[in-house]
Amino acid sequence: MSASGKPIVVLTGGTGGAKFVAGLAAAMPPKEITCIVNTGDDLDWWGLRVCPDLDSITYVLSGRLSRERGWGVEGDTFLCRDAMKAYGAPAWFSVGDKDVALHLLRTQLLRGGKSLSEATAEITTRLGADACILPMSNSPVETRVGTPEGELGFEEYFVGRRFQVPVEYVRFQGSESARPAPGVLDAIASAEAIVIAPSNPVTSIGPILAVPGIREALAHTGAPVIAISPLVGKAAVSGPAAALMAASGLPVSLFGIAKAYHEFMDVLIADYADAADASVLVQSGVRVHTTDIIMRNDEDKKRLGLLTILMVEQYSRLRTADARQATAVTQGTQS
Ligand code: GDP
Repeated sequence: MSASGKPIVVLTGGTGGAKFVAGLAAAMPPKEITCIVNTGDDLDWWGLRVCPDLDSITYVLSGRLSRERGWGVEGDTFLCRDAMKAYGAPAWFSVGDKDVALHLLRTQLLRGGKSLSEATAEITTRLGADACILPMSNSPVETRVGTPEGELGFEEYFVGRRFQVPVEYVRFQGSESARPAPGVLDAIASAEAIVIAPSNPVTSIGPILAVPGIREALAHTGAPVIAISPLVGKAAVSGPAAALMAASGLPVSLFGIAKAYHEFMDVLIADYADAADASVLVQSGVRVHTTDIIMRNDEDKKRLGLLTILMVEQYSRLRTADARQATAVTQGTQS
């Protein structure tokens, strides 16, 4: 539990992020967790508004997420998808039947005039997720992936092409004029700590950081910012993070993670497999803690959640001690 009762704020995206949030929610009261979630992957599918990362976080915090797939609802069926396919509708993006229900509900709320934040808050309550879930922005921001066959939406690249096409660049359409969703900047300013989940730094955390004002808020918050590496042994644990980092000019290593987050990161949690890079970073002044960061099961997830809380406490104590020392030095100078 956070010492002050102030929330721990997690910036998060897809599967790695959802695994981490599950672990954190097992390690502390979920109602003290605020998730700021990527919406760059959102898309219209069969006329319904689908928000893959908001869905995953809502499912994980309401105990519904499919463990096997890492997305969608546990034990869901795919009758609607199969019927749509039989009727000649596109079916490259799989949505389960209970998923369709959620997308219908969201679409109804949005068409009824609610903002994405309001719809998300209502869905969070209706599904019984006991945490605060905030979309990064109510403005549409769309992650676009440049490939030799032209620009693709993120899910077209990730699911449609199974991330097997070369990536030339990544951009976030609409980000320049986007505004942080209500509650996002306040959550960052008044957090006990901010945690950057082990999500894809380019396409899950990148869109959040591209919303004007969020990077600045992270750089200026008084709360410690702790990032968890999504890389183990200079490779992504899953998914296309390595290719996307390379295409975005980031080294595929802890150095790339440090580069992506350098303006605001106070502590980096990395894997033992990257200990050599970690010690180079430590020598250049970055605080790095190495441990086993692969979340194979619930126990691993909870352990990483508990370790993150421990890091928050340790870093806060360290800063208090530094502040006391600085005061003592100043007083010593004055007397
Ligand atoms: P995606 O949209 O499913 O790719 O979702 P994310 O943004 O969460 O990206 C997945 C990221 O999580 C990848 O970079 C993975 O390397 C990372 N990841 C997945 N599982 C784990 C894990 O168990 N531990 C850590 N540290 N990272 C993980």
